[in-house]
Amino acid sequence: MIRTPDLTGHTVLALHAHPDDESIFTGITLRRLADAGARVVLVMATNGDMGESRVGLGTGETIAHRRTTELERSAELLGVDRLVLLGRRDSGLPGWASTRHPLALAGAEPLALAGRIAEIADAEGADTLIYDDEAGIYGHPDHRMSHTIGAIAADLVGATSYRMTVDREHLHLAAPDGHLVHGAARSAQVAFGRTTAEITLAVAGDERHLQIKRDAIAAHSSQIGPEHLPADLAPAYGYEWFVRNGAPGVLDALGNAHLLAGLSAAA
Ligand SMILES: [Zn+2]
Repeated sequence: MIRTPDLTGHTVLALHAHPDDESIFTGITLRRLADAGARVVLVMATNGDMGESRVGLGTGETIAHRRTTELERSAELLGVDRLVLLGRRDSGLPGWASTRHPLALAGAEPLALAGRIAEIADAEGADTLIYDDEAGIYGHPDHRMSHTIGAIAADLVGATSYRMTVDREHLHLAAPDGHLVHGAARSAQVAFGRTTAEITLAVAGDERHLQIKRDAIAAHSSQIGPEHLPADLAPAYGYEWFVRNGAPGVLDALGNAHLLAGLSAAA
């Protein structure tokens, strides 16, 4: 049984690189924050222009339009109160011409974007920021830039920050090759995630949270099909992992499954 704390009066700002990252890496966390009464602000850095569509687009519809519509649906499922689109371009992977586009996120001036995030956080009274870990979870240039921007913004506003990642040891044992990050890391030819010992906080979801997470990921149907998700979501997607920077804060109130697992193993 997962306890729902009372987080009324708290505001959490989550910064993500591409539409679908919010559901894959923080779907349970955002839904549980909203259920606990926290205000959830989702800032999306790019419109995901480099994602090829699995499905036919409507007349005049661009991939960016399509992905924004999908993101709006996902945000609604996850209980997001406010969605802010920064409107930068998806940079694609190193070596692609798209990395040199003037609006590519990876080539952005981090201070300017961090200033915008800090302004939003200030105006919202956000005491907590969520963004990518130092390695950008799996090294994608847009995720790495999201880390840089998020870290500067958190310093500017003095917020506790939670840097999202994945526990690669957990995934190795529970769901080898079963998480979307496995394929993404293979494409980028990089290592991904953190070791269990490096992770501060694991947020767990129950069956209801997992169903909502599945629906939110599936809302991104131009990118992800039902065949990309396992029938049982729990092994690969039942936890969401963070490395905290700063004093314990709002996300810690959701309970630390990581710590509980450690305690039961020690008992
Ligand atoms: Zn991404």
